Amino acid sequence: MEFSYLNDKDLLFFSKHILLPTIGIEGQQKLNCAEVTIFGLGGLGNLLSTYIASSGIKKINIVDFDVVEETNLQRQINFSSEDVGSLKVDSIENFLNNKFKNLQIKKFKKKIETLTDVEEIIKNSDIVLDGTDNFEVRKIINKACVKNKRKLIIGAVEGYTGQLTSVITNDSPCYECTYENLIDTNSCSDSGVLAPLVGMISSMMAMECINIITGNKSSFDKKLFIVNGLNLSVDIIKTSNNPGCKVCE
Ligand SMILES: [Zn+2]
Repeated sequence: MEFSYLNDKDLLFFSKHILLPTIGIEGQQKLNCAEVTIFGLGGLGNLLSTYIASSGIKKINIVDFDVVEETNLQRQINFSSEDVGSLKVDSIENFLNNKFKNLQIKKFKKKIETLTDVEEIIKNSDIVLDGTDNFEVRKIINKACVKNKRKLIIGAVEGYTGQLTSVITNDSPCYECTYENLIDTNSCSDSGVLAPLVGMISSMMAMECINIITGNKSSFDKKLFIVNGLNLSVDIIKTSNNPGCKVCE
């Protein structure tokens, strides 16, 4: 691993993480050296990018082709009315750079359409975080991560339902194994979304990412976490490889 020097200001800023037995100085250095990619800067990507940057991860790739709209502001909480009409990658870059020091943000104003689109972005990433809002793009990201052996954490929120799963090792069930038969007839761009649910799922994605980088194990590999925001019930379902999966066969 490359050397990462924590100065006095860093030690103070990250002190509450450094005190945690699973992080410490060594874990903090691992975070400072890690590179992650965040696909989608909607409800999930907003808070997720904030907690990723606040954890000490410096190399952050952010990917989104969209501009901020009025209807985003209620749940995409880093944006304000002054951001309406701006590219989400620009607004998030400004927000993070105003709040945290020495970030190395790479912006990709890109609509993901091919495997190559994803591969070019994730080639140096330790972890890929998928907070996009449609099945077809998620399938492309999944395929690229499986092919290039990148650890993938996938979050989704629609209506009252939040979901989270991770694809970590060669024998992990991939996104396609779990969702093969789902067709995107109802992306969250045209359905309702309970706003605090995106905060919950994005925070959990950030925790999963921090835990994996600092050497703690994944909590959602081979598992699908489902929360119902209406009655706050939680299910954790064990996922399994689909023998006929075209992606991770
Ligand atoms: Zn699969």
